[in-house]
Amino acid sequence: MKGKLLVIGFGPGSFEHITQRAREAIQESDMVIGYKTYVELIEGLLTNQQIISTGMTEEVSRAQEAVKQAEQGKKVAVISSGDAGVYGMAGLVYEVLVEKGWRKDGGVEVEVIPGISAINSCASLLGAPVMHDACTISLSDHLTPWTLIEKRIEAAAQADFVVAFYNPKSGRRTRQIVEAQRILLKYRSPDTPVGLVKSAYRDREQVVMTTLSEMLEHEIGMLTTVVVGNSSTFFYDDLMITPRGYQRKYTLNKTEQPLKPHQRLKKEAEPWALEQEGEEAAAAAEEVITDTLSAREIAEEALQALLGEKETSGYVQQPIESIFEVAVSPGLVNKKFTPKQMMTLAEVVGEKGSMEYTTDHYIKLQIPTMSPDEIISKLESADFLLSPIGDVLTIKACDFCDGEKSDAIPHTEELQSKLGGIDLPKELKLGMNGCGMACYGAVKEDIGIVYRKGAFDLFLGAKTVGRNAHAGQIVAEGISSDKIVGIIEGIVKEYKEKGYPNERFHKFFKRVKTVYGFTYQDITPKIKVEAAPCGD
Ligand code: SAH
Repeated sequence: MKGKLLVIGFGPGSFEHITQRAREAIQESDMVIGYKTYVELIEGLLTNQQIISTGMTEEVSRAQEAVKQAEQGKKVAVISSGDAGVYGMAGLVYEVLVEKGWRKDGGVEVEVIPGISAINSCASLLGAPVMHDACTISLSDHLTPWTLIEKRIEAAAQADFVVAFYNPKSGRRTRQIVEAQRILLKYRSPDTPVGLVKSAYRDREQVVMTTLSEMLEHEIGMLTTVVVGNSSTFFYDDLMITPRGYQRKYTLNKTEQPLKPHQRLKKEAEPWALEQEGEEAAAAAEEVITDTLSAREIAEEALQALLGEKETSGYVQQPIESIFEVAVSPGLVNKKFTPKQMMTLAEVVGEKGSMEYTTDHYIKLQIPTMSPDEIISKLESADFLLSPIGDVLTIKACDFCDGEKSDAIPHTEELQSKLGGIDLPKELKLGMNGCGMACYGAVKEDIGIVYRKGAFDLFLGAKTVGRNAHAGQIVAEGISSDKIVGIIEGIVKEYKEKGYPNERFHKFFKRVKTVYGFTYQDITPKIKVEAAPCGD
């Protein structure tokens, strides 16, 4: 009878996180081979298996013993924490087999049973830090040259990978994590979120949220996995979260700015200077630097020192371009562009951006950029009115007959300054027309205001798009000018608070029936539609 090798990853360490197949495999084995601590962790599953447990550093002899026993006909469970194929026993078992000339066909059977690796178990305790491209790097340089590990950290840092560091530190290996931090700080913000998880799903579990610059101030040991976020990872309520992607679009609206403070480029002192103080420390740092820097880095340091740039050097964030969206118009009332404005538009939009003429009394700009602030200041200096784009309030005012019928202008401006651009469940257009002609179509907007005979008429709930579009219904006439702004604020506030996400204002009005004291009336007439005469 041929034996079998069952190479089992039993997950982070808690019983519930061992897979069904891993449990069965342990139970159907004749013998369990593993590191002492791990055998203890799965003790509850054992029936009458023979146990071979050895010390941590004896993996090779464990693998050899396992192969030998399987060759003698035993079913041997080789256990690893996490996943056996991630810095675990699986590769080692195969190495021993290959050395002996084992073949898949005809040799002892091998089954590798997957388990939850530390990157996954630790991530789940932190929140969702591994949402995007991630890698694992073991900082153990027992079997891997440090120069290679260094290269991998450098590459991962440069490419903005989320990184899970395994084997970050042991009693003797203490400098590796310091070096890893130093390399990461060349490319990532010191405020990059870092999660330290010790003994995930085990008795002495410990979760620490920190940052790249401060992570070394916390305990890191053999049982810790260090998860370093990418440039968009953020903390929220003690959770570490990496968004699904890099936000490609953003607009003026502050709440929609995806750039968290830690993502902005900041000038930072050299990482070593952060950690060390005094001459002695500086000397020690010097030693480490020359000890570990590549020839090119040393040359670069020297060049920087020569150019006197050393102090200004910060980290180099890999540039990530986003699309900046903004609405521009010559003004709320003013509808006339100046040549300077048109030239400024051409300049800021450039070859790669676009400017789109819309139905909303503004031109929509979409500009791929890494520095929206520059664009904003150029547009502002050309006297443009800038507004955010998206689910916000936009005011569409008439030109008040070129400003001649100016009575309602101050109220329009007050509404713009109080409500223009605020976030809402769905885009909301507020039409403001300066006379009873309402030639700019205020009654066809979500909220319509028409100034007439020294007071305001109010229309609510137009359906502005679709085949069954209709005007808003008039809900009040003759609102005095000292009340109008407060009333509109009240309506908008109610919609903001009570509207469902994505619910258009007319649907909201129909659903809640009363908004700020104004009642919805079902006045839509049922119109009979005749089929086309020859349309069958
Ligand atoms: N095969 C294992 C990894 C073994 S290397 C796996 O897939 O998870 C050992 C390293 O794994 C430790 O230094 C630590 O960084 C990480 N690790 C393993 N189990 C862990 C746990 N329960 N909590 C936190 N880190 C763990």
